[in-house]
Amino acid sequence: MDCLLEYSRDALVELLAGMGHKPFRATQLQEWVWKHRATSFEQMSNLPPALRAELAGRFCLRPLEVVEVSESSTGSTRKFLSRMQDGHLVESVIIPAAVGQGGAHSSRLTLCVSSQVGCAFGCRFCASGLLGFTRNLTASEILGQILAAEQIAGERVDNLVFMGMGEPLANMDNLLAALTIIMDQQSLNIGARHITISTSGNVPGLRRLAEFGRPLRLAVSLHGASDEVRSQVMPVNRKWPLGELIPALREWNRTGKHMITLEYILIQDVNAMLPEARKLARIARELNAKVNLIPYNTVDGLPWVRPSEADCKAFCRALMAEKVPVTMRYEKGHDINAACGQLRLRRTAQPGVAPTRVPKIMEK
Ligand code: SAH
Ligand code: SF4
Repeated sequence: MDCLLEYSRDALVELLAGMGHKPFRATQLQEWVWKHRATSFEQMSNLPPALRAELAGRFCLRPLEVVEVSESSTGSTRKFLSRMQDGHLVESVIIPAAVGQGGAHSSRLTLCVSSQVGCAFGCRFCASGLLGFTRNLTASEILGQILAAEQIAGERVDNLVFMGMGEPLANMDNLLAALTIIMDQQSLNIGARHITISTSGNVPGLRRLAEFGRPLRLAVSLHGASDEVRSQVMPVNRKWPLGELIPALREWNRTGKHMITLEYILIQDVNAMLPEARKLARIARELNAKVNLIPYNTVDGLPWVRPSEADCKAFCRALMAEKVPVTMRYEKGHDINAACGQLRLRRTAQPGVAPTRVPKIMEK
């Protein structure tokens, strides 16, 4: 069944016109869907009963059914697994703001959303890549993760990171449709600066996202500062090597409002050696980017090893010595930002996470 969530205001007007209704009905419908977060058409008391019945026969309002919620042992992050109408599963992560976090980028509740079931890019270190690609999420399924998170958390999501399963820029049409509704003031009203798109370096996708023309934040999964190292762990680098990716990022900088973040997983004997830090620093300086170091999170069945804490810190210091803004998250598999690439497999592999079964999304 089609889902109404992905209908923009214009699309609602057109839909209702086709059913013989005036544009003010679209305003009412939009208010029910987004302002009141209605979960059923019966709730929409100011719409004519015949219209409610017709909509209920054609559309759903919640494309996902939450089947499992897991809370980290510290209680700081929660992951949930949702079943879509075709039975496929998708995972999302709720991350409360760190205590004391401030500044323009501050938020209360961040959601890490998935954009695809599996991923076709097959990065050698990533659990989502191991699964292979199944299908794109619809815009409604992307939006549905936000509504489901709000019901679980009991508060509104105000920050989004597209760092869950999948490559968002390989699902461009649905990503842009979802973003339009996420940013729409009459819908989710989350500002572009509170939205981070993470990409493995899909060059045509980056250009299209730049044309979209909104001041979104961009994170780039670099993980290698030379073609030799990067191609070893990211097959996508053969298609769009650094010689194409870096100019595309320079182009992004011309219109982008925020510093790009270069994500760099530290993997022992692959990319965590000090000469690589110097190459990474050159790229970061050229792009005026900050670097986020993520000590590799073990994925069962994959051969990669996390470097020692001393080696990770030495790599970090080498970047700092080159005056590159750098952050490092070193939390033994518990940190959700670091572990987003482990979605699905990590769920069962991580100790300290007790799954709780919930039969269905609770009605508000
Ligand atoms: N496809 C997009 C977004 C999803 S991945 C992308 O690749 O950017 C989100 C982040 O998790 C990426 O930076 C990814 O490289 C990282 N990641 C994947 N596997 C990981 C692992 N085993 N340990 C730590 N980070 C990982
Ligand atoms: Fe796909 Fe990103 Fe994982 Fe690479 S890191 S396989 S692009 S989800």
